[in-house]
Amino acid sequence: MSVIVTGASGQLGRLVIEQLLATVPAAEVTAVVRDPAKADGLATRGVTLAVADYNSPETFDGLLQSGDRVLLISGNELHRDRVAQHKAVLGAATKAGVALFAYTSIIGSQTGPVTDDHRATEDAILASGVPYSLLRNNLYHEMVTMNIPAALAHGALVRAAGDGRIASASRADYAAAAAAVLTGDGHQATVYELSGDTAWSLAEFAAEVSKQSGRQVPYRAVTGEEYAAMLSAAGLPDPFPHVMAGIDASIAAGELARTTGDLSRLAGHPTSPVSEAITAALAA
Ligand code: NAP
Repeated sequence: MSVIVTGASGQLGRLVIEQLLATVPAAEVTAVVRDPAKADGLATRGVTLAVADYNSPETFDGLLQSGDRVLLISGNELHRDRVAQHKAVLGAATKAGVALFAYTSIIGSQTGPVTDDHRATEDAILASGVPYSLLRNNLYHEMVTMNIPAALAHGALVRAAGDGRIASASRADYAAAAAAVLTGDGHQATVYELSGDTAWSLAEFAAEVSKQSGRQVPYRAVTGEEYAAMLSAAGLPDPFPHVMAGIDASIAAGELARTTGDLSRLAGHPTSPVSEAITAALAA
């Protein structure tokens, strides 16, 4: 078996490699990175390193082989044409005749630039004829626990998600599911809606932060415009304030609340509760 993971120096990619190494010999795993300087830890694990950039399709020439099982981790350069980036990897996979092309997509039916990129990539994958598996991820726990330092500093967790509930899971949970798909059988032509086992609200999240930290950190709901303006004032560059406000609008609309069970079924264990992610974030 030959398993190839792009974005392998990223936070999710590293966890996928870790999960793979639990069941696959390192010699059968290739980590694709754009910057080898970020991949020292991967090389010492014995995996093969390959250097390629989504912005330079030619760097993927000859990198993928017939029979490979490939995970394309979606790019994070929102100022670039991510669909073209993803198509560069897809083109190489189609040409090579890979056995499986898995892609980290997004759950739900919301619209917006981020979701539109994922849906356009999914459409290209379906049109290509490549054996595929679409891994539609819900939110990472870590996308909310990253707010804890600011919440503690300001005495409130400020978001624009109303009373919406979030069926998030840890990056490690999503990585376990991706590794299971890459190494298991019968995942061709599948679409997995991956979410945590339990949906929670930001009020509940804030109450748990208060309980664990011993400080009162209530949730304060603001409008999307207020939230985006607050993030801009704090120095977050465009387009991220609007992307974050868009995520909160999706939460408020209930689009991230659905618990499907796909993630724990694939991972082979229940998803980790958000309270554990809060504990880890407070300890960091
Ligand atoms: P991350 O830590 O930012 O990792 C993104 C990876 O993509 C990095 O390894 C990065 O390479 C690589 N990459 C970006 N542009 C590239 C290019 N032009 N060529 C080659 N590689 C490129 O993000 P993550 O936490 O692992 O999440 C993985 C993806 O999920 C993100 O990229 C984003 O699409 C999506 N996402 C999902 C959520 C969620 O809550 N579900 C939240 C945020 C993002 P470097 O290591 O060199 O930077």
